[in-house]
Amino acid sequence: MTARTDPSRAVPVGAVPVGAVPSGAHALATVAAALDLAPLIDGHNDWAWECRENRDYSVEGLDGALDTDTDIDRLRTGRVGGQFWSVYVKDSLAGPSAVQGTLEQVDWVYRLAARYPQSFVIATSAADVEGARASGRIASLLGAEGAHSLNDSPAVLRMLARLGVRYLTLTHVHNTTWADSGTDDPVHNGLSARGVEYIRELNRLGMIVDLSHVSPATAHAALDATSAPVIFSHSSCSAVTAHPRNVPDDVLARLADNDGVLMVTFVPQFVSAEYAGWFGGDQSTPHRG
Ligand SMILES: [Zn+2]
Repeated sequence: MTARTDPSRAVPVGAVPVGAVPSGAHALATVAAALDLAPLIDGHNDWAWECRENRDYSVEGLDGALDTDTDIDRLRTGRVGGQFWSVYVKDSLAGPSAVQGTLEQVDWVYRLAARYPQSFVIATSAADVEGARASGRIASLLGAEGAHSLNDSPAVLRMLARLGVRYLTLTHVHNTTWADSGTDDPVHNGLSARGVEYIRELNRLGMIVDLSHVSPATAHAALDATSAPVIFSHSSCSAVTAHPRNVPDDVLARLADNDGVLMVTFVPQFVSAEYAGWFGGDQSTPHRG
């Protein structure tokens, strides 16, 4: 979803007036018409991490119905045209372990595409995404979540770029050595001078700066430094639901000039304060609603 709020700039999706909520068959037809116009590209999916944790990175048996959030049938039913697979490791991993874990995640995505070639094809460019759409396959893109994955080595960043990784989320839930997370105590006033150098290197490499997870100060500093559009790969809006993972309006407004994109996530605690309150409690009673 773009950050622009002018309804006249939205993709035309049928005869439903702006603000009205279509229902039933009309809603499905509206969605189908929108997806005929442009591919749905999901900015963040942790299936690789799921398979690391529960399948020892195996890509076998992923073509049936699964009880995980993702399976191929539902990607198809949802008409996902492009998927940024998150090549993520927790930021409790550090140093060479984080680099190794990230490389293992990249390897999983390549093996996934090789194992299910009717469904997936690796994509590293806009042309690749268009080609995947033309061939009826899901463009499989890669994004690294958190600069801890680099072990503060620009060389590792450059090698991830050569492996096809096309965005870097600057932090995960903790600060890195050069950027503040939105869920940690600030120490860099956003970005350090070294952080600004990383933004410039990302721009030079053609990798997207992803500002999900970072603090508002980091987002502003990155927007000051970048020469290319940024994304929020999986964040929602603070003005709708106050949460440190969401984006305040003063940052959202700057995306218009940057040509940036906010990809709204539907993680329940990011879009419902009521759910977040339940989630942050002892969860001793089932959530209702
Ligand atoms: Zn995340």
